[in-house]
Amino acid sequence: MILHLKKSTPVDLINWLKEEAYARILEFDSYTQAVTTKAFKEIPEFLSSFVIENWTFETDIQLASLDYTEKREVSIGQDKIGGLTKNIHLIAGPCSVESEEQIFQVAHKLVELGIKSLRAGSFKPRTSPYSYMGMGKEGLELLSKVRKETGLNIVSEVRDATNVDLVLEHADVVQIGTKSMYDHGILNACGNSDKTILIKRGFGTTLQEFVQAAEFVLCAGNENVILCERGIRTFESKTRFTLDLCGVAYLKHHCNLPIIVDPSHALGYRYGIIDLAKASTAMGIDGLLVESHPNPSAALSDSAQQINFKTLEILKSEIKNLSLALNLNLT
Ligand code: PEP
Ligand code: MN
Repeated sequence: MILHLKKSTPVDLINWLKEEAYARILEFDSYTQAVTTKAFKEIPEFLSSFVIENWTFETDIQLASLDYTEKREVSIGQDKIGGLTKNIHLIAGPCSVESEEQIFQVAHKLVELGIKSLRAGSFKPRTSPYSYMGMGKEGLELLSKVRKETGLNIVSEVRDATNVDLVLEHADVVQIGTKSMYDHGILNACGNSDKTILIKRGFGTTLQEFVQAAEFVLCAGNENVILCERGIRTFESKTRFTLDLCGVAYLKHHCNLPIIVDPSHALGYRYGIIDLAKASTAMGIDGLLVESHPNPSAALSDSAQQINFKTLEILKSEIKNLSLALNLNLT
């Protein structure tokens, strides 16, 4: 249950909620918000005179539920997505920041194409200990330099709780990847920040678990959360993962958080990225995250799925046309 309580609610009643109903408490100007376990369904007599408004839920999708509040607006740098904006925001860039030359080549191309957000990981959570792990702090410093010189928004991922503070310091949007979205150290640190947090769906994660990861950030006080569908593992092996557009439809219908689709990690091959980006755009999503590299076949990570600059240019122009037809605003 979500309760909006009067600011005059006695501390011992708040403590009772924390202890008996596992409530997470946040203070707002005109009310105290308590979010309890879903099992808490009846407001006890001694609390009722302090309740301004309350919402019950069948599951622990609560703060992220459209039954609680209308679609939330979230910032990506100076741009906004979600809410009433009708914006679809394109984020592009290499899987990893590899060198100063490489990242500035990408940044200058994005500026030329009118793309405002650069993605690049510097702390890469890999599935093999012998794979490229990213440039770490040095790469984040390069990304900060890119922002300073080009004004691009920086989207970069966190690998584990030991680097979350660094990523929070350097990125405009902190990406929590498919393998990191259960990490409480990361979720708590992101919840205690006011930076925009982009949570990617774990590839073996149900929609319920996915949105609950977002609930950890929301109930810690950070309302700037974006969900990213990036493909789930199925029996199919011809493609790297399976893009779950049914899941996107579910999220659109039930959740108040902006939704971004990442076709690159879903397909795993560059040949169909434009098609998937168009299919996702047609669903009325809030953004796209696409991997692009100056020389994809030489990329140090996710080489097979990154598109070159020419393909990125085509993708941008096709998404632009489609968004016009759909009355959406490509930013
Ligand atoms: C990435 O965006 O480069 C990445 C590693 O994504 P995911 O966590 O979805 O695999
Ligand atoms: Mn990648």
